[in-house]
Amino acid sequence: MNTLAYLSIKELSSLLSRNEITPQEIVQSCINRIEKHDKNLGSTLEIITPKVNNSIEGLSSLHNIPGLIKDNICQKGQITSAGSKILANFISPYAATAVQKLEHAGALSLGRTNCDEFAMGSSNETSAYKLAHNPWDTSRSPGGSSGGSAAAVAAGFVPWALGSETGGSVRQPAALCGLVGSKPTYGRVSRHGLIAYASSMDQIGVFTRTVYDNALVLQTIAGKDHYDSTVIQQESPNYISGLTGELKKGLKIGVVTNALNAKGMHPEMKAQLLLALKKLESLGAELVDVSIPMMEHAAATYFVISRAEAASNLARFDGIRYGYRAKHVDSLQDLYQKSRAEGFGHEVKRRILIGNYVLSAGHAAQYYESACAVRRMIRQEFLDHFAEVDLLFAPVTPAPAFKIGEFAKNPLQMDLQDYFTCSANLAGIPAVSFPCGFVQNLPVGFQLMGPDLSEGLIFQTGYAYEQATEWHTMHPKL
Ligand code: GLN
Repeated sequence: MNTLAYLSIKELSSLLSRNEITPQEIVQSCINRIEKHDKNLGSTLEIITPKVNNSIEGLSSLHNIPGLIKDNICQKGQITSAGSKILANFISPYAATAVQKLEHAGALSLGRTNCDEFAMGSSNETSAYKLAHNPWDTSRSPGGSSGGSAAAVAAGFVPWALGSETGGSVRQPAALCGLVGSKPTYGRVSRHGLIAYASSMDQIGVFTRTVYDNALVLQTIAGKDHYDSTVIQQESPNYISGLTGELKKGLKIGVVTNALNAKGMHPEMKAQLLLALKKLESLGAELVDVSIPMMEHAAATYFVISRAEAASNLARFDGIRYGYRAKHVDSLQDLYQKSRAEGFGHEVKRRILIGNYVLSAGHAAQYYESACAVRRMIRQEFLDHFAEVDLLFAPVTPAPAFKIGEFAKNPLQMDLQDYFTCSANLAGIPAVSFPCGFVQNLPVGFQLMGPDLSEGLIFQTGYAYEQATEWHTMHPKL
């Protein structure tokens, strides 16, 4: 049955439609593999056996295809804890719109994946429950905050998983685990039912092992929703139809040279990125060097804005309305304080403190308001470049997966994991990371960023690259 482990959605769906396999066999094979290997990986928090859909075959290729969902995306009637003790017993009364759309397409959820607490982190180490490990080397982190989703897909537990991005939490773990990871345009996917971290950047994204599968899941979850006022009110496009294996005629890719030459970039990593560029060029892309100096201010800008929004969003966890409530309290104030002190982990508290500071009277203009002004400049710089080039090529991370605990004494160093990713979140533009080889037997990736709603072009380009390379066919030995 293990032969099913690394089949794509596309392959599983065609086996199903030819009646060569039953949905129950697929589900059982996934669950067996998780039971056998997840003790070493810690990628899941809860596994549920879904009801397969024996109704007339759905039109969607996701019909009866199992996947996993990050623990900060609500599944109806299931615990959704955002990796936090404060929501340990929170049972969601509704499903996130993205989850509902997947259900509508007949996809099956096998449960929820481990993640950093409230999606705050880059290593999965802030999860209140357990560590997650990188299937390519279990002494290393799978990245974060959607580390569990990435580890589960890379380990062949399921062909797809949902994650969420605020500053890079899908692309970074995807790159560190050798996967395709998409961060759609802000508003492309409804945030309804995604537990908020920093609402002006939060987006649900997708992990898969192939570009086709990623495009399929993203087009399923994207689109209109009256529960989210920031969603783009446009029908979801068909990304699959653009996957021709060829690049768009005359495709111009801007190579972000200041990112590629950034201080601290692993030399072997850079070599892999240059090879990926050569490949894109051989497929017909025109490469032009561009420099985006504003990108160098993105991490600091992201730091301020994300903390400010987090402090506001997390004010709702007061021990009364949701989740954990402290016992033995002597006043209402005491109840609030103890519930929050006992329920939140260290990193979340640190961010709430910083967020309240940057928003406080006397400091807001200096920190929060200037960060918002810089953010507008970052977006403008991207838009100016997209007047000249179709897409931008950049690294996702400066190095392959790091050891668990490597940044324990240096949280600011950990924050630099977002250095190349968070500008796309600040600008609201789509970005997808694609695997492009190995450095010291660990996977690495590059990202393509594009103007608003250019997901189709990004997938088309990534698909042509994927068809010309073999990275997506390589899997870790568990
Ligand atoms: N690592 C970043 C942070 O901790 C990004 C997290 C995310 O995208 N959710 O804020």
